[in-house]
Amino acid sequence: MPATYQVINPATESTVERVNLADLAATDAVIEKAYKTFESWKKVTPGDRAKLLRAFAQIVFEHREELAKLEVENSGHTIGNALWEADNVANVLNYYSASPERLFGRQIPVPNGIDITFKEPLGVVGIIVPWNFPMPIASWGFAPALAAGNTVVLKPAEYTPLTAVRLAQLALKAGLPEGVFNVIVGKGSVVGNRFVTHPKVRKVVFTGSTEVGKQIMAGCADQVKRVTLELGGKSANIIFADSDIEKAAAAAPGAVFDNAGQDCCARSRLLVERSVFDKFMSAFEKAVKNFKVADPSLANTDMGPLISKKQLDSVQSYLTETVAFTGSAPSGAGFWMAPTVLLPKDTKSKSWNEEIFGPVVSVLPFDDEADAIKKANDTEFGLSGSIWTNNSSKAIRVARAVESGNLSVNSNSSVRYWTPFGGYKQSGLGRELGPDALDSFTEVKNVFIATDN
Ligand code: NAD
Repeated sequence: MPATYQVINPATESTVERVNLADLAATDAVIEKAYKTFESWKKVTPGDRAKLLRAFAQIVFEHREELAKLEVENSGHTIGNALWEADNVANVLNYYSASPERLFGRQIPVPNGIDITFKEPLGVVGIIVPWNFPMPIASWGFAPALAAGNTVVLKPAEYTPLTAVRLAQLALKAGLPEGVFNVIVGKGSVVGNRFVTHPKVRKVVFTGSTEVGKQIMAGCADQVKRVTLELGGKSANIIFADSDIEKAAAAAPGAVFDNAGQDCCARSRLLVERSVFDKFMSAFEKAVKNFKVADPSLANTDMGPLISKKQLDSVQSYLTETVAFTGSAPSGAGFWMAPTVLLPKDTKSKSWNEEIFGPVVSVLPFDDEADAIKKANDTEFGLSGSIWTNNSSKAIRVARAVESGNLSVNSNSSVRYWTPFGGYKQSGLGRELGPDALDSFTEVKNVFIATDN
């Protein structure tokens, strides 16, 4: 009997489905299949590979509502977010479908011959996905990997396997050959770890906690295996006195409570210039009280439940600091929590330093530009962040000074599939999305051809 896992709807605590968890032998078999298929997939002409990826994108678009509904049930995401997520998968596939024919090498001038470079696929790419954004994060790995001519084995998180399994079925329906895009459901310690140790997996793309990311990086070192890491975050939302305070305050709940704060880009440190602290906080309180926490399947819901009881307990353990105010949340079944605003004592406080990964934000004042930069950078993480000011010179200065991979000015949006995404410091290694992501799924091969014989 294979081990199984009961998938729970976090809004109701009812069982959605029971899935089988793969063991080591099943993992090895899938890796072997992907390895064999690589031989034929890498030979598919660039134009045909592009066509297949476009067909995959189209079929995802056609199933966006079904995929979104599945994500609402499995992950408690709001329907608005889940539709965006399904569309994001299709958009990422479409974006990288334009790359097989554009995977250019170079011709480099050399004496006595011609020198050319090729971007060759790596082979089997193992992708390990967390539970917070199951669909988009999977596609940020598999779309460029497939476009570059690699085959993929993908492991969704234990809590949230359903959309990944469906995407694999849709890939086959779109015409991708069997064995090119493989989804295997199982534990991180079994399936995920096998991606690290199996010599036929040439690269691991890991998104998840910094703790596990470090283990993956250390494990991959053993085979000098390529690795991309997208890890934790503790990003700042910096509000300067010269910004549009009403606008910044109205947008601040979404910047941290979206997806119930289970977002690596969550702006969970709110830094407010001292001279406008009270003004900002009173507008922010109104916005938090209006942030609607409710049944995620309703179109006007802003925030759903947390993913699990375990996550809820972990987040609530941070509520030992002074609470400024909270929003509201449903009671009864489901892993619900009200958005909560904390006033930590100082920058040493636990909530100010640790990635809480829930609907909790800590607020501190700052004195001037230098103090804001110092406080924002006082963390081992560096993934995201926002800067609110109407002074464009200051915006550029601060954006250049904050040690983070993705910053927004007068906005809290972090992700566009056509711009690079990734972290400084312990938030990760490498970049996903955007024009350069293909490079991390290829090896550069240099070939010299003598012409003097
Ligand atoms: P996690 O590290 O517990 O698990 C992530 C994935 O790794 C899961 O699929 C899990 O099964 C697998 N895994 C666990 N142990 C493993 C092991 N020893 N070997 C191989 N695989 C293993 O993280 P999580 O709780 O699922 O996700 C939350 C974390 O992800 C947060 O820290 C968050 O910041 C981070 N995250 C980062 C980004 C980013 O882009 N930087 C995006 C989303 C989430």
